[in-house]
Amino acid sequence: MSKQALLDQIKADILSGNVCPDLAREATQLVFGDGSPDADLLFIGEAPGKKEDELGTPFVGASGKFLAEMLHSIHLKREQVYITNIVKYRPPGNRDPLPDEKRDFLPYLLRQIEVIKPKLIITLGRHSGMLFLPELKIGSDHGKPKKVSISYEVKSMKNQDLESSILHTSNSILKVVILPLYHPAAALYNGSQRQTLLSDFALIPEIFTKINNNN
Ligand code: URA
Repeated sequence: MSKQALLDQIKADILSGNVCPDLAREATQLVFGDGSPDADLLFIGEAPGKKEDELGTPFVGASGKFLAEMLHSIHLKREQVYITNIVKYRPPGNRDPLPDEKRDFLPYLLRQIEVIKPKLIITLGRHSGMLFLPELKIGSDHGKPKKVSISYEVKSMKNQDLESSILHTSNSILKVVILPLYHPAAALYNGSQRQTLLSDFALIPEIFTKINNNN
């Protein structure tokens, strides 16, 4: 199966698995992810906002415009990276995602990571950073890459027929480098955070080269 087909399967599993039905009921649609399945860089935000909910694509509102600008500053386009969120339905009124909502979407996010196999994961904001780095202090840790190993349970359906499906459980370990950054929304109305984010973005090419040289 191609990486795209595997990603399509994860999306279908979220829909058929009825993940976060309360959020799903209020949202226009699922906002799964956007970009290249072969990307080396994976950006993870929190949850879709109004514009993302309307268009079904992550980071297409004001934060997305700034994200595209920052990508441009390091000579990258959206199509060359992959962009997703922890929670894949818009929380009503753009409230913060709840712990249960983040937990319920985590297995699907981990499957996205497994398929894409990015060399560097860039977390946007505290929620996303703390998924991988629970001790994260964004004020002092932003812009500092950290290698992490994530151990988790994989549950996969043996076949598509729910009646006779068998859940296979095994432990898997993902080794990835995480670069925690501020959320672009935080920088929209704060000039100094905007500059900090741009400076942190400027570190990405060098961090990426180092990761490549260590492999
Ligand atoms: N903020 C996010 O965290 N994700 C989006 O997709 C848009 C805004």
